[in-house]
Amino acid sequence: MAFMQSFGAAKVVTGSAHLLALENGTKILIDCGMFQGQNEEKNSKKLEFNSAEIDYVVFTHAHLDHVGRSPLLFKEGFRGQVVATRPTFELARVVMLDSAHLMKEEYRQHFRKAQRRGEENSVKQPLYSAEDVESFLTLKKRYASYGKTIKLQKDLTVTFYNAGHILGSAFVEVRYVEKGSEKHIVFSGDLGNENDVVLPAPDNPQEADTLYIESTYGDRIHKDIDASIEEFKTTVIQTLQRGGNVLIPSFAIERTQEILCMLKFMHKNRELPVCRIFLDSPMAIRATRVYNKYTEELSPLCQEFLNEDGAVFDFPNLEFVKTQEASRKINDIKSGTIIIAGSGMCNGGRILHHFKHRLWNKANAVIFVGFQAKGTLGREIVEGAQWIHLYHEKIKIAASIHTINGFSAHADQRELIEWMDSFERLGNVYLIHGEEEKQILFKEAIKKELDKKAHIVEMGEKIYV
Ligand code: ZN
Repeated sequence: MAFMQSFGAAKVVTGSAHLLALENGTKILIDCGMFQGQNEEKNSKKLEFNSAEIDYVVFTHAHLDHVGRSPLLFKEGFRGQVVATRPTFELARVVMLDSAHLMKEEYRQHFRKAQRRGEENSVKQPLYSAEDVESFLTLKKRYASYGKTIKLQKDLTVTFYNAGHILGSAFVEVRYVEKGSEKHIVFSGDLGNENDVVLPAPDNPQEADTLYIESTYGDRIHKDIDASIEEFKTTVIQTLQRGGNVLIPSFAIERTQEILCMLKFMHKNRELPVCRIFLDSPMAIRATRVYNKYTEELSPLCQEFLNEDGAVFDFPNLEFVKTQEASRKINDIKSGTIIIAGSGMCNGGRILHHFKHRLWNKANAVIFVGFQAKGTLGREIVEGAQWIHLYHEKIKIAASIHTINGFSAHADQRELIEWMDSFERLGNVYLIHGEEEKQILFKEAIKKELDKKAHIVEMGEKIYV
């Protein structure tokens, strides 16, 4: 009998890796993501399955916690096929190369310090290099389009549907025949928010004998998106009108493009005061380029932009800042700028030097538009720090700090349940990709709303399907 095993994103949010082993020996790995935050040390362990035995790797989308350990698969002997949408392949390349680059930088720093202590042998090598990423990407690719079934083998197909989470994201239906009867398994991947500015709402699913569903926000209902957009606009307008600058720490994929869309919308409606807008993140620039290549997959609002002036993420006064030198030059501008820079949680990246130059000035504003994890500089500021330490300097926080919570790339509890309710036939439900406390609440909500039992998947647990 076929079975599933999860080697990540079981009772945690990161490290997605779910293995489907069919009775005929075929093995399909759904995602191969990096562990992040508290579980990071798990990345350095060997993969818990034999990579050489895997026939297919299916990517639901290109976030690091879904694709980030894939180059290790190649290093450990995987030579099968990779199935994903075209934008996912392209964004995954951007994400994996960025990850290789960050690991190399971190290694160099640790190595230098260890050398001075005479302990250079103690420094852990990076998990993989840019060359390993490229090697992984030489494997045979199968390009998925939404709604079109791909035959992998006799009696084994996959179909991707729009998940509305980031560009190229999909929920994936795997169909196979076992003992003469057809089985359907659906993997939700990460499901998007139905009011996403940049992407259309997720497709409705049809049927599943088994559903593996994410539960990141299974415990909560998001704030209203319209209220959040209003709050964003007001903060931008008021800050620019008082001669200040707006700093927006942002994630490179999806959130950055949402911000660009909102600013373009303001510009179009003549709501945006005269200003210069800087997208100061090489990774966000690369990601935006991929979004620009697949504009037909974007939201109705983006289609409107496209019809009007032929561009979604471009408008007067928007500048893409590629070099570090150009980034530092922004510091010379006294007022009237909007600076979008990484990293999203402020634990690195160009946002730090902008903080150094702007945080002490009360005319400026910082708008946090994404989740700030515990232990990050972003969290410290959001929680009301009066000073921060940057580049061996104490910096006073006088700028106004705004946290806008309504932007989310994930469906909330109500949306997840509505999505499940839209199945015409739904068999067993398994919860993955969520913190256990939240999964327990989600499980209760599923019981109450849909009168359905759901099982919270354990790491490594064998589930016969
Ligand atoms: Zn994701």
